[in-house]
Amino acid sequence: MSTMLEEMNRARKEGYALGAFNFFNFLSAQAVIEAAEECHKPVILQTSVKTVKYYGARELHAMVADLLKNSKVPAFLHLDHCKDVAFAKECVDAGWDSIMIDASAHPFEENIRMTKEASDYAHAHGVFSEGELGVITGVEEDVVADVEKLADYDDTVKFAAATGIDFMAPAIGTAHGVYKKTPHLNFELVERLGKDLPQPIVCHGGTGLSDDTFRKLISLGIAKVNISTALKHAYIDGAEKYARETPDDYEPLHLEQAMFDSVKAVAKHHIEVFANGR
Ligand SMILES: [Zn+2]
Repeated sequence: MSTMLEEMNRARKEGYALGAFNFFNFLSAQAVIEAAEECHKPVILQTSVKTVKYYGARELHAMVADLLKNSKVPAFLHLDHCKDVAFAKECVDAGWDSIMIDASAHPFEENIRMTKEASDYAHAHGVFSEGELGVITGVEEDVVADVEKLADYDDTVKFAAATGIDFMAPAIGTAHGVYKKTPHLNFELVERLGKDLPQPIVCHGGTGLSDDTFRKLISLGIAKVNISTALKHAYIDGAEKYARETPDDYEPLHLEQAMFDSVKAVAKHHIEVFANGR
């Protein structure tokens, strides 16, 4: 069985990226896994801190453990945007494959200190780590960041080395949530980091970027693309469409199936695009 780091390095080398999808219940997790299996691509199931708190870390891990274990493609459980070192450690203990510690709101040195602490703990337990530098705008865990601060090349190289993280998420101009206008991405930064950084690079705020933008980012070295908002929309829109079109159907499993199909189609589209980076 390959590890998440091995799969990320293979993706980087071969010019594709892993989709990392924020699931929120068993249905959405299952839909993502089935999409990845049909594409024969490894995949990352990731959880927001909010989702972990809703279910409890051990309960949420148990919910998807068999699904991950029995998946026909390599599939991993990752914690997205955790701002609290203690909570990241809790997910390490509960069995996550990888955790993201996001101390990017803190000054540079404090970001390094917090990220290294969480990363060292993860590594001591055979778990991988992701860190962030700069400010990615948009809504994340109900907190709105509206002043963008792109990562700097030298700082990113220094940060990645000093923290010992496995995956690097620099702010490159993408945003969380729904784009109101076309974002200006720093492709040059991605290209330089893609060439020089030992760690694979992660793109946050994937929802709403064009397929061409995904392909360009992946060709420059992005090995993991986070998709959250698109999955939530597919889930709710799938339910709304089903209820509207069949107002007299009160069989819950029919509704579940419609939502499943909707989430799976969106996940599959992204995995297919990410599979053809170069
Ligand atoms: Zn993010």
